[in-house]
Amino acid sequence: MPFSLPSDLASRPTPFYLYDLALLRRTVQAAQHAARSRHIQVHYALKANANLPILHLMHEHRIGADCVSGNEVHRALEAGFRPEHIVFAGVGKSDAEINLALAADIWCFNVESGAELQVLNELAGRQSRRARVALRLNPNVDARTHHYITTGLEANKFGIGMAELPAVVDLLPTLPNIELVGLHVHIGSQITDLSVFETLCHRVNELQTWFEHRGLPLAHLNVGGGLGVNYQQPDAELVPDFEAYFSIFERLLQRRPGQQVHVELGRALVAQCGTLVSRVLYVKESQQTRFAILDAGLTELIRPALYQSFHLIENLTGQGAEQLYDVVGPICESSDTFGRRVPLPETRRGDVMVLRTAGAYGEVMASRYNLRDLAPAVYV
Ligand SMILES: *Cc1c(COP(=O)(O)O)cnc(C)c1O
Repeated sequence: MPFSLPSDLASRPTPFYLYDLALLRRTVQAAQHAARSRHIQVHYALKANANLPILHLMHEHRIGADCVSGNEVHRALEAGFRPEHIVFAGVGKSDAEINLALAADIWCFNVESGAELQVLNELAGRQSRRARVALRLNPNVDARTHHYITTGLEANKFGIGMAELPAVVDLLPTLPNIELVGLHVHIGSQITDLSVFETLCHRVNELQTWFEHRGLPLAHLNVGGGLGVNYQQPDAELVPDFEAYFSIFERLLQRRPGQQVHVELGRALVAQCGTLVSRVLYVKESQQTRFAILDAGLTELIRPALYQSFHLIENLTGQGAEQLYDVVGPICESSDTFGRRVPLPETRRGDVMVLRTAGAYGEVMASRYNLRDLAPAVYV
């Protein structure tokens, strides 16, 4: 079925984000179905979209929370997630953020360096607590995705490199307020080549053996997120193939008896349920190009400008023969372009245009650049 706007929204001022909670529910149920039958825990990466109705739905389906800032930890608690279902990752946690998470007694800190481990030990001591940690390792596995959203290579800032790992592990016996519970990897985002996750499993198995040889059994393996979605043809794949994804971990991860396995999905859970709705302000023709200028721009959806990402653009009200348009926003930046040479029916001022697959890393990255108002969210 092609995308259509609920009729009561047809006259609503644009731009706005539209979230299809029925699709979100179907997606979350499919993920949980595939994960639970394999005894894998799903955490939701709040940074993809932290709107409360979305978080409530995740929590209702007994998904945990993966946070990357103190405010996200706070938001997760506010949305009803229990502290024992919250993990806190991030390469630069501030003292205030660590203190907040310690005071809330969250399940686990994913620690990214020896320096962070020492600070966490000290702050935990001041609160008379022990912090549970998973070491975030940089496994040097290529996610084969855009280089701006690759995180698991030696050149990336994330995680503890293999060269540094022995020294970090040697610190552990000197840190009385730290309890090592597991290891964590997260190698990138929008991963569509599933063989990448197979390679990752083999690396995690090797790393687990390495820890065990040092007398450090791991209660818990967190293999991160990164499962991609179909931006080119969203209607062909509104719900990602969670069976294929989870079956890789079931098949290849060498789990020890009683060991917990976590994944942290963001994009795959929320991308397809969100759509940015806008109107055409002007159609402007130059000698080489026909521009459709929208009332939404990079202030609403920065992904195309930030990492050249593709969003399917549809004109819901245009009629007539297809022509090619450069679809751009109103912001004073040349990168404020959603698509070049996009085939669209003849487009006029006032036409309703949607950018599909905008539920993840869309509204959360909105800015007020040019002093624009933030676009509201509408739920159906
Ligand atoms: C962003 C992030 C995720 C989620 O990534 P997706 O590609 O949206 O699934 C998971 N874990 C960590 C540590 C992250 O930073």
